[in-house]
Amino acid sequence: MTDRYAVFGHPIAHSKSPQIHAAFARQTGQDMSYEAILAPLDGFAGCVADFIAAGGRGANVTVPFKEEAFRLANRLSRRAERAGAVNTLTFDDGILGDNTDGAGLVSDLTRNLHCALAGKRILLVGAGGAARGVVEPLLEQQPARLVIANRTVSRAQELADLFGRGVTACGFDTTGGPFDLVINATAASLAGELPPLSPAIFTAGTLAYDMMYGRDTPFLAFARVQGAATADGLGMLVEQAAEAFFVWRGVRPDTAPVIASLRAV
Ligand code: NDP
Repeated sequence: MTDRYAVFGHPIAHSKSPQIHAAFARQTGQDMSYEAILAPLDGFAGCVADFIAAGGRGANVTVPFKEEAFRLANRLSRRAERAGAVNTLTFDDGILGDNTDGAGLVSDLTRNLHCALAGKRILLVGAGGAARGVVEPLLEQQPARLVIANRTVSRAQELADLFGRGVTACGFDTTGGPFDLVINATAASLAGELPPLSPAIFTAGTLAYDMMYGRDTPFLAFARVQGAATADGLGMLVEQAAEAFFVWRGVRPDTAPVIASLRAV
C-alpha cells in the first residue's frame, strides 16, 4: 500500500513541499504520496489525528504550527528539543517530533554554496522559530563566533542564553562587524521590509543569506550594494525536506536536480 505523508500549514496553497517530495520519491523509487493539508488555525491537533487515523505515516509542519507540533509530539529528537519547534512528525508507535530546518540550512551553506563555517564570524538576524532551529547546527560547525541580532533584543538574549559561550545577543544598532556570513532569519522579507542593519556588517567576502525564497528581497539587494555575495533560502527548503525524507524512508535523495528544477520555473 502507498504510504501517505503530508504538510500541514495555514496558509498552505503556496507550499512547494508536495512537488519536492514527489521528485524525491520518483528519484528513489519510494511508494509514497505527499499532500498539502490546510489545518484550521484552532484545529491543528485534530487534523493530525484524522490523518493518522486515515493511515498517515508522517508529516511536515509549517507556519504557524511548529510550536504546537512540538507540544503534540510525545517523543522529541535532541535537535527538536533544542530548537523548541518541530517541522517533521513521524507516526510510528506514538508521535515523534524532529526539526530538520537547521540541518537543511547547514547542508545548503556547506554543500551547495561551498561556504565552510569553521572559524567564521556569523551574524544571525532574527530570534523567532527559524532562528531558534538553526543555532545549534551552526555551532556544531565551530564558527569563531555567532552573534544573534533581533528587533526585540530580549528574545535574542534568551536564545543566546540557551547556548552560552561563543554566542552573543544584541539589537540591530550594536552588531559590530564585518561578518563572513549574515543570515536573515526574520520575517521582514515576507513584508518586503529591510531590518535596519548597518552596512558595516558586510565586506567584500561576506555571504548574505536570506531564508526567504522565491523573490529578491530588500535584505539581499542591500547586501549586494555593499559588495556581498547573496543566496536565498530555496536550497535550505529542499535540504530540510531531504533530511525529513531520510528520517521517514532511510534514503537520502539527490537534492541538486530538485533545486535546479525549482529554480527553472
Ligand atoms: P517568526 O514569526 O517565528 O519570527 C519572526 C522574526 O522576525 C522575529 O525575530 C521578529 O522579531 C522578526 N521580524 C518580523 N518582522 C520584522 C521586521 N519588520 N523587521 C525586523 N525584524 C522583524 O518567523 P519564523 O522564524 O518562522 O520565519 C522567519 C523567516 O524564515 C520567514 O521568512 C520564513 O519564510 C523563513 N523560513 C524559511 C525556511 C526555509 O526552508 N527556507 C524555513 C523556515 C523559515 P521580533 O522578535 O522583534 O518580533
